[in-house]
Amino acid sequence: MIPGARLVVLGKQGAGKGTQCLSLSHHYVISHISTGDLLREEVRLKTPLGLKAKKIIGQGDLLGDDLIVTMVKERLDSAEVRRRGFILDGFPRTVSQAEALGDLLAPNDLDLVIDIAIDTGVVVRRLSKRRVCTGCGRNYSTTNRPIIGWTCDTCANEVVQRDDDRPDAIQHRLEIYEAQTAPLIAWYTERDLLVTVSGVGAEETVTKRMIKVIEDRRNRKGGRLS
Ligand code: ADP
Repeated sequence: MIPGARLVVLGKQGAGKGTQCLSLSHHYVISHISTGDLLREEVRLKTPLGLKAKKIIGQGDLLGDDLIVTMVKERLDSAEVRRRGFILDGFPRTVSQAEALGDLLAPNDLDLVIDIAIDTGVVVRRLSKRRVCTGCGRNYSTTNRPIIGWTCDTCANEVVQRDDDRPDAIQHRLEIYEAQTAPLIAWYTERDLLVTVSGVGAEETVTKRMIKVIEDRRNRKGGRLS
């Protein structure tokens, strides 16, 4: 276990960020903070934020920075996250969010930012096949279905296609990624925080690659990350 690790994972939609972040959060016993999951939960509960976010998410657009930063700040301030550390999934997504994150963490900094690299053709195919559990968020696909109908094997809730996994929304999200999120790769490279791993291959293979780069960074920092 790495005490107090502070990690960010970048990658196009469909690169496998959510799945990998979950595995790493278990491996290192750190909190997995997924802004997409947090927002989908607000939508499900029909909170004021959820009602506002529903249409924006469905269209594949980004929510305003202020709103997202406030939501992330709340999580980062929790005692659990302060004690254990975190892995951020889906945040930051713009340079201004990265600046805000820097301010939230000051005087500390992130330990490492991992970019999961993958071709656009591969992610478009993956996203169009993706199906997601409305209860626990577990991912399936049209070629990896639940055992009984479209009922989740883990929690028995309904498994559906996300509104933003329809072809026009996928295209739009990937364009936004290139325009707004891809610049973070240069931003974090300049700060000597970025490493890239290939997102091609089996889930466990990609997880091993990520653990290796985290361990390499830890060794470089003399055994500790933070
Ligand atoms: P994906 O990366 O597959 O698009 P996520 O689950 O990370 O999906 O996010 C789903 C949606 O939630 C985004 O398309 C966007 O509308 C909203 N969202 C999530 N994180 C952010 C963020 N950091 N800034 C703005 N909007 C966000």
